[in-house]
Amino acid sequence: MIPFQYERASNPEAAVHSLSAVKGSKLLGGGTNLVDLMKQNVENPSTLIDITRLQMLTEVVPAEGGHRVGALVRNSDLANTPDVLKTYPLLSQAILAGASAQLRNLATTGGNLMQRTRCYYFYDPSLPACNKRAPGSGCGAIQGFNRIHAVLGQTDEGPTSAHTCIATNPSDMSVAMAALDGLVEISGPKGKRTMPVREFHRLVGKTPQLDTNLQPDELITGVHLPASAAKFATHSYYLKARDRQSYAFALVSVAAGLELDGDRIKSVALALGGVAHKPWTSKAAEQALIGKPANEATFKTAAEAAMQGAKGYEHNAFKIELAKQVIVRGLTLAAQGTQRSAEGAAA
Ligand SMILES: Cc1cc2nc3c(=O)[nH]c(=O)nc-3n(C[C@H](O)[C@H](O)[C@H](O)COP(=O)(O)OP(=O)(O)OC[C@H]3O[C@@H](n4cnc5c(N)ncnc54)[C@H](O)[C@@H]3O)c2cc1C
Ligand code: SF4
Repeated sequence: MIPFQYERASNPEAAVHSLSAVKGSKLLGGGTNLVDLMKQNVENPSTLIDITRLQMLTEVVPAEGGHRVGALVRNSDLANTPDVLKTYPLLSQAILAGASAQLRNLATTGGNLMQRTRCYYFYDPSLPACNKRAPGSGCGAIQGFNRIHAVLGQTDEGPTSAHTCIATNPSDMSVAMAALDGLVEISGPKGKRTMPVREFHRLVGKTPQLDTNLQPDELITGVHLPASAAKFATHSYYLKARDRQSYAFALVSVAAGLELDGDRIKSVALALGGVAHKPWTSKAAEQALIGKPANEATFKTAAEAAMQGAKGYEHNAFKIELAKQVIVRGLTLAAQGTQRSAEGAAA
């Protein structure tokens, strides 16, 4: 690990000031991703700004009919907050389907939103090609081992292009927050702003090195979960297909919430994980569901719409069919009613 400075922020303004003032500085949440990347020499911040003592960012509080989740609320605390279990069970399920109890006890809401891809080529600096780690070096995954990689929205201009990246976003929490139309609250040197979770993570475009639309001198202060998300509380399901039953990232996941009027779908919350560089939402899939009967035929049509344009590679082409099945199963389970078990759901 390369030497770095450490400082502790005493309030959000001081954290933002340090981020702007100290070139190459990074915020430290639970450290469960950043410290791993520093040990691997993938990330080399000049200064770590420890924000974990910012008490004002550690609470889940009612706000504007919904709830505000502080950026430093630990993943375990968020998943087990009674108001969250009652109002946003989809979010609890998604968080509990991720990592392990020990990791969730440390990991923070802000850090989870910002966690980096699990692409093997990104994590190993001894491998020469990775546009995300070393911009312009090409993409090792596209002709390498790409089982966990993207099938939607990726940039694929061949292995040597500076734009190519087929990495996925690994966060389960973000998938549920995108489905529920969460709003990321941000503080920066120019003041405060908000950004929908659906727009927070980026597609690759021509900048594989960028994961999100957060600026390097900005701090996530929280996530607002809107009042409208409560209508999915009785019919929602987070379904995660993975290589092991626990302690594994999603191959494909779906956050599915339905507002039903009898057997008709009035409105829908739907997002996919494990398939793209960001939580994947599809207007076409939503339109295929709204106003239709909540049955297998409708869910199959929506699954086809969601996966339109998908492209697989040597080791991950199976994800396209898997995703369709996970969408149908997730929506079917959501229609049957929210299961309020203590543990996250697994396929
Ligand atoms: C073995 C293992 C298995 C895992 N399995 C899963 C899984 O199945 N599903 C899943 O979703 N996750 C999984 N994770 C990832 C885990 O959820 C993340 O490591 C964790 O959420 C990151 O949160 P953190 O607070 O520790 O972030 P940190 O490591 O502290 O920070 C991560 C990044 O976020 C930035 N950051 C932190 N807080 C803020 C803020 N407030 N504003 C702006 N930037 C900020 C940091 O600067 C850094 O760049 C796994 C991790 C491990 C090690
Ligand atoms: S998929 Fe993206 S992160 Fe992985 S090697 Fe290619 S450029 Fe790097």
